[in-house]
Amino acid sequence: MGFLDNLRNALGGQKTGNRATGGGSSSFGSGDANAYWIYAQCRRCGEPLRSRVNLANDPSLDDDGLNWVVRKGILGSGANRCFQTVEVMLKFDSKKQNVIESEVGGGKLITAEEYETLVRGA
Ligand SMILES: [Zn+2]
Repeated sequence: MGFLDNLRNALGGQKTGNRATGGGSSSFGSGDANAYWIYAQCRRCGEPLRSRVNLANDPSLDDDGLNWVVRKGILGSGANRCFQTVEVMLKFDSKKQNVIESEVGGGKLITAEEYETLVRGA
């Protein structure tokens, strides 16, 4: 009986553990509804960069009280001996579904396809 109890405890413990760390289950499959990937390219060295936005936690309400703003500083890997941070500001609509405004310092936004191409070509 001890074994079953231990098993039950282990399963239960894992469940709460996942919840505490913010969703261990989200890494399984592509059903990560809260994830928004920013793809950018460093202006100085051309390195492709990406950063994950957690739409549930990262955006903060804009001054207008309607839209949502995310600010990310994306640091390159240093592979090109460039340690510039690309500063990205994205403004989402009230439903956090569409980017309605963006500002990038030190680089530019690119698409996921462009990112993949750059990574492959590097
Ligand atoms: Zn760079």
